[in-house]
Amino acid sequence: MSRFMSSRFAALETYVPGEQPQDMQYVKLNTNESPFPPSPEVIAAVNAYEVGRLNLYPDPDCKRLRKKLADLYAVKEENVFLSNGSDDILNFAFMAFCDRERPVAFPDISYGFYPVYANLHNVPATVIPLREDFRLEVEDYCGLCQNIVIANPNAPTGRTISVADIEKIVQTNPDHVVLIDEAYVDFGAESCYPLIKKYENLLVCMTFSKSRSMAGGRLGFALGSAALIEDLNKIKYSTNPYNINRLTLVAAEAAVDSDDYYKKNTKIIAENRAYTVEELGKLGFTTLPSKANFIFTSCPKLSGGNLYRELKRRGVLVRYWNKPALQNHVRITIGSKEQMDVLLEKVREILKEV
Ligand code: PMP
Repeated sequence: MSRFMSSRFAALETYVPGEQPQDMQYVKLNTNESPFPPSPEVIAAVNAYEVGRLNLYPDPDCKRLRKKLADLYAVKEENVFLSNGSDDILNFAFMAFCDRERPVAFPDISYGFYPVYANLHNVPATVIPLREDFRLEVEDYCGLCQNIVIANPNAPTGRTISVADIEKIVQTNPDHVVLIDEAYVDFGAESCYPLIKKYENLLVCMTFSKSRSMAGGRLGFALGSAALIEDLNKIKYSTNPYNINRLTLVAAEAAVDSDDYYKKNTKIIAENRAYTVEELGKLGFTTLPSKANFIFTSCPKLSGGNLYRELKRRGVLVRYWNKPALQNHVRITIGSKEQMDVLLEKVREILKEV
């Protein structure tokens, strides 16, 4: 740290992203990307003509894309907010809705960025423990009188809560924002976004990074009441209005038009997930029920750290956290059938040696 760093940030603990090796020598099952390329229409849309227009700023309102998303989700354009990855939206939401007087609550085991944003914006956080088997107890969040952030499906567990339970939380915290982070909703969970028409305090965050194969394009969106979206825009237009680049915009417009392609892919991922869980089960693994494009799994014969290291040595990357509550487990992204077969083959090999 330089001597110029503001004392406000001196003690900040940053988010640690999963490894991103640039040589692609690994079967990469560690950061929940899609194994499928963007649709052919997306690839065609990012063409020489569009690259040739990079001298011009992009549309800061993202009008065409917002219209397409509004149509897809049957909401109004004023209910759609777009930003540079859903991480950016989470950051904006913490900035817009949370402060010392309006603290935030989230589960102790969830997306690692929530506590980072709370610290960054100096927001007191109530960290609510999950229950047995990493289950979220809905009653813990009812009538909390705090802003609430819940990932559904949760990360890294993959577990879900029902839309009826989300409605209870939203209903019993009417004066606070309930942010449901649905980064992984498209892999078999039910989205709560229809509730935004009924509740002014519900914000639903989604992303193009997972089900829409665009992690590298950096695009997230949120659906919420016009009032909440206006607040997020206030932050966006006070930081970086051009935060979605032209190429990502044209790619995303084509991606919304290719919805069937992505639906087909998410179905394949769900099938590969069931296959992987079953095969790991035969090898003695216990896996939490997952509706996401990853599973959280453990094996009594191997600690999470050992499994992570042995897999990495054999060219397969998975995610592991060296924290007491998580260290028996690894999180494995669900990739193509071929990738999952490589993973299973390596796991069998490792188990023979222990
Ligand atoms: N929410 C959750 C729960 C996530 O796991 C991720 C991915 N790391 C994100 C949000 C952010 O995704 P992105 O910024 O790529 O949209």
